[in-house]
Amino acid sequence: MLRSVILAASRSTRVERLVATAPFSRDVVRRFVAGAGTDDALRVTRALVGDGLAVTLDHLGEDTVTPEQANATRDEYLTLLRSLAAAGLTPAAEVSVKLSALGQAFDEHLASDNARAICAAAAEAGTTVTLDMEDHTTTDSTLDVLTDLRKDFPSTGAVLQAYLRRTESDCRELASAGSRVRLCKGAYKEPESVAYQSPREVDKSYIRCMNILMSGEGYPMLATHDPRLIAIGEDRARWFDRGADGFEFQMLYGIRPEEQARLVGEGYTVRTYVPYGDDWYGYLMRRLAERPANLAFFARAVASRK
Ligand SMILES: Cc1cc2nc3c(=O)[nH]c(=O)nc-3n(C[C@H](O)[C@H](O)[C@H](O)COP(=O)(O)OP(=O)(O)OC[C@H]3O[C@@H](n4cnc5c(N)ncnc54)[C@H](O)[C@@H]3O)c2cc1C
Repeated sequence: MLRSVILAASRSTRVERLVATAPFSRDVVRRFVAGAGTDDALRVTRALVGDGLAVTLDHLGEDTVTPEQANATRDEYLTLLRSLAAAGLTPAAEVSVKLSALGQAFDEHLASDNARAICAAAAEAGTTVTLDMEDHTTTDSTLDVLTDLRKDFPSTGAVLQAYLRRTESDCRELASAGSRVRLCKGAYKEPESVAYQSPREVDKSYIRCMNILMSGEGYPMLATHDPRLIAIGEDRARWFDRGADGFEFQMLYGIRPEEQARLVGEGYTVRTYVPYGDDWYGYLMRRLAERPANLAFFARAVASRK
């Protein structure tokens, strides 16, 4: 119920204006977002890489509505990739890209061309790209673009969402040699016709999908903060004899940093997903929807500024 309200608020421009201009928002945002500019992204990446973590950087922004915005997002990624390479932060850092930020909603070809330009820049910088997955109406289009990109850039990563009923079958399709696949629970509000609704069903689906990926030929990227799923991931890594270069855990910046450090200490590869940029509203609202404790953190920040 609370999750639905927050996800509805994430699409309201009125609530967005209210939250974006509130003085307390700065502190809350800083916990989950590296900062506004490329310099902030580099600073946070340098610190995380220094702590033994790998990184994937996301330039915040989604639901782009003009070609100019889409091309500006592409250019931001090109600048970022050049800066990461110049700073010696590749291949430890890669980038995560949302096709909606590159124009997918109004021109799939433009989004695909922009994604291709980013993949080329990533290859030049000695790193790679993962295509984030958005709501279920975009899944087929995103997987089509992925298939196309992989012809020239085979290391381009896919994301599959365990809450979708189709995902087990997608995992089977994508568990092939060299295929990098991020498995997450899924962050959007989806109808029952396409997605499991109860946390228990989603968790069971996650485990089935994890089994397919970890026993397959590809490179699984287990994106979750869930202690039970992480423990099962560790178990499957032992069972299928996957070491630090055979799979990775992924978590979001600002969420369970001690657990990220513990896993690094155990010898696992752990990648932190670091968002940066001005357009943090949709991202922040999805994080709040996931966990009431994040909402309490938000409320405390509000109270402390009163
Ligand atoms: C690297 C990464 C990339 C992602 N990419 C995508 C994407 O492309 N598309 C998409 O739809 N979604 C994406 N997501 C979001 C994902 O789908 C989930 O919405 C999000 O990760 C929350 O699910 P969870 O697996 O962490 O479990 P949840 O069900 O949210 O949490 C399970 C348990 O984890 C622990 N936990 C969670 N948060 C905290 C916290 N703040 N502090 C302490 N414990 C906590 C608690 O024990 C909690 O009960 C991504 C997530 C990650 C980590």
